[in-house]
Amino acid sequence: MQQYKIRVEHAQKAGNIGVFDVHLSSHTVWWSEEQALLMEQPHKNGYVDYKHWATHVHEDDKEMVEANFKRILKEQSCLDEEFRVMRPDGSYKWVRCKGDIIFNSEGKPEHLVGVCYDITDRKQISDTLEFLNEASKILSSSLDYKTTLQSVSSLAVPHIADWCSVDMYDRNGDVQLVAVAHKDPKKVKWAISLRKNTKTDMSAPTGLPHVLRTGQTEYYPLITDEMIDAAVKTKKERDLINKIGFTSIIIVPLRSKGQIIGAITLVTAESKRRFTEIDVHMAEQLATRASLAIENTLLYDDVKQEKERLNNLVSTVPGVVWEAWGNPSDKSQQINFVNTHVEKMLGYTVEEWLNTPNFWLTIVHPEDKERAAKETAKIFKSGKGGVSRFRWVAKTGKVIYVEAQSYVVKDANGTPIGMRGVTMDISQRMEIERRKDEFISMASHELKTPITSIKVFTQLLQRKLSLDPVHKKFLTRMESQIEKLTNLVNDLLDVSKIQAGKLELRKEVFSLQDLVKDTVENIQATTSHAIKLKGSVRKKVDGDKDRIEQVLINFLTNAIKYSPDAKDIIVHIRTNNQQVEVGVQDFGVGIPAEHKEKIFSRFYRVYDNHDQTFPGLGMGLYISSVIIKRHQGKIWFESEPNKGSTFYFSLPFVS
Ligand code: ADP
Repeated sequence: MQQYKIRVEHAQKAGNIGVFDVHLSSHTVWWSEEQALLMEQPHKNGYVDYKHWATHVHEDDKEMVEANFKRILKEQSCLDEEFRVMRPDGSYKWVRCKGDIIFNSEGKPEHLVGVCYDITDRKQISDTLEFLNEASKILSSSLDYKTTLQSVSSLAVPHIADWCSVDMYDRNGDVQLVAVAHKDPKKVKWAISLRKNTKTDMSAPTGLPHVLRTGQTEYYPLITDEMIDAAVKTKKERDLINKIGFTSIIIVPLRSKGQIIGAITLVTAESKRRFTEIDVHMAEQLATRASLAIENTLLYDDVKQEKERLNNLVSTVPGVVWEAWGNPSDKSQQINFVNTHVEKMLGYTVEEWLNTPNFWLTIVHPEDKERAAKETAKIFKSGKGGVSRFRWVAKTGKVIYVEAQSYVVKDANGTPIGMRGVTMDISQRMEIERRKDEFISMASHELKTPITSIKVFTQLLQRKLSLDPVHKKFLTRMESQIEKLTNLVNDLLDVSKIQAGKLELRKEVFSLQDLVKDTVENIQATTSHAIKLKGSVRKKVDGDKDRIEQVLINFLTNAIKYSPDAKDIIVHIRTNNQQVEVGVQDFGVGIPAEHKEKIFSRFYRVYDNHDQTFPGLGMGLYISSVIIKRHQGKIWFESEPNKGSTFYFSLPFVS
């Protein structure tokens, strides 16, 4: 039995476990050696005074310990409690006590026996985790990092440290105190004014300047007098340090994108608590989380500023800048953004645009609505973006011609999800264009009559047999120049007719093969190029023979004009997919790919008008494309620069 007791005592010693026994009727308290050490109180032969056993229990915990004792006696339950015990140096440790009641033969409580052990480390870890958890919540709660850092500092005091401060570099590279906390607000004021009035020596070999320079944590578990003596230079500094009464210090750096942006300083003073490695780890964790939060808020600020800059920029654009989600022809399409210019241009408020689905379409002129919806839906589906012209009706009823340049927004899979763009008021441009068209129409009409007369008189003169050969030659040249002029005026007239929607077709069923053959023969008579016809088609087409001939002549004269160094021109004719297809192939200068989209536009030329090599006005292909499209046909070309081009058209054949 004795041997067994000795073994248990050894085990208790090894585990720093104290044992206590309170005799409840005689009020005597017995403590083992370890228990006396844990309670920071001496004993006499193992006995301590019943009234004074709790002398060193932390003031704030005494009442709870007393109440627990009374409660377990009343309830006759087990004891299990945690409290703090003060050390002689003013710091404290955490202990846990567990005990049980032993009853006498009459069933009355006789003894309270139990064990006690030090749980400071465990308590510190769980406090640290709890603190970090709370700090993280605060750090993610606001986008104003100065307020956030102040809240975190306040949270650290007094459980983690007596003082907590945060310093950061400002825009000018100066260090600023951005947060400071102490349980006494007067001391906080004092610290702030102290920092204002004293300049930090940034070259100091230790402390905050050193951490800011090197980015390395500084940790002083116990600040000794010798350390202070070595660090201070003046009596004033010494007095200051004495006033704070440093016990322990941790300074950890704050980083953003690899740069040191500041530091957190934790100080214990009056609590006499000494920081441990666990505290250092906690401080570094806190700094990492705070750094991340600061980085996020700085990023947010950047984004905010950028957004403001863009908004300012966008508001100065003299057009409607917009963004919308969904198909533009869908009733559910939602406008996500429009600049304030809409109010000026159309009289509808930004809110009206944003709150009414598919708003842009609701104010399109009724005559343009269907076409505009179709066109924009096509642009959206193509995923490539594009241009659409239509009329908007302003709140006042005024009709405004607009041109919408759209870009398609796609998701990660490349599926169109929305559109962005700029819609400009082109009313003025349209008016100028209208006047230009009117002028072209009038001018070409006016020119037509005198040219016809000149032509007739030239022909009359030519028939005069008495003319000598030289004069006859002059007249032939005149006739060919008049022919060119006539063609030009005819083209101008055609363009005007197309613009006014007045190009009439006189349709008949005819053999395209015959028309191609005749046209080739006629043109062949005027050129040194050798025009070959390949293929033969019996099918007939229904169309305006003169207009189709006009297209053929345009293709052939272009082929001649744009292949000055080549000899051959090949005309292909064949059927393909219910259509008769005609291609005019040359071996000339070809067309660079970037002109592909625009070559059939009005007045479009690859070579500008300063280029004297190939004179022209860019009307022929435009007129041809309108003629072919009016016949439900197709027009296109294939080309390679310096190798040649083939221009095609196809028309549905009559079965
Ligand atoms: P024009 O020849 O009077 O300029 P078109 O409308 O007939 O007008 O042609 C438009 C433009 O297309 C021309 O300016 C020319 O640059 C280009 N083009 C047309 N046909 C050819 C061709 N066969 N080879 C090279 N370029 C051509």
